[in-house]
Amino acid sequence: MASIQDIQDQIALAAKRAGRKDLPTLIAVSKKHDADAIRPLLEAGHRDFGESRVQEAQDKWPGLLEEYPDARVHMIGQLQSNKAADAMALCASIHSLDRMSLLKSITKEAEKTGNCPDLFVQVNIGGEEQKGGVAVDGLGDFLAKVRERELPLKGLMCIPPADLEASPFFALMAELARRHDVTGLSMGMSGDYEDAVMLGATHLRIGSAIFGERPA
Ligand SMILES: *Cc1c(COP(=O)(O)O)cnc(C)c1O
Repeated sequence: MASIQDIQDQIALAAKRAGRKDLPTLIAVSKKHDADAIRPLLEAGHRDFGESRVQEAQDKWPGLLEEYPDARVHMIGQLQSNKAADAMALCASIHSLDRMSLLKSITKEAEKTGNCPDLFVQVNIGGEEQKGGVAVDGLGDFLAKVRERELPLKGLMCIPPADLEASPFFALMAELARRHDVTGLSMGMSGDYEDAVMLGATHLRIGSAIFGERPA
């Protein structure tokens, strides 16, 4: 477990090696950690946090956001359509837009409230049956549907297969982003974020390297 400053330094080093001038946003994935574990990071000035369950985020974050109104919660986990409105009320971005039914719920709520978080379309980059995400083949059509609705499409997101080298999948993501003219790339976790930085990630989602092992 490293301090968040150590991680930021590693990110800056990887970005420099890659010849990048911009730095990706570090989303500290605080799922399964309670408010007391999160507060020191807020005190140190960190503002971007990732959660994977709406209910858990609703339990923890309203109190913390009262103390730190400029903090941002990013929904990174699979999202049920009937939880979309709750997620949208709390979160600055949703990284797991992965199917039509969810897109419809988000659209409806955005029309109702006039607000919508930044959206990342999750790509099932390894073609894994058990994983969420739009298939690579269907990505163009799905993005067209998001764009039709004039929602704030920010980029693409992926979780590469757990047992394989991540770099080729990150490279493919970068290629898909170019092909489909989107700028954001949410990719890179504790074990592979330096590779993700090298390959163009704009948003890193890092949990255990910052917080240690998650409580069971
Ligand atoms: C838990 C989680 C992460 C963080 O994983 P670590 O390996 O702890 O860094 C990133 N992205 C998603 C979608 C997650 O669910």
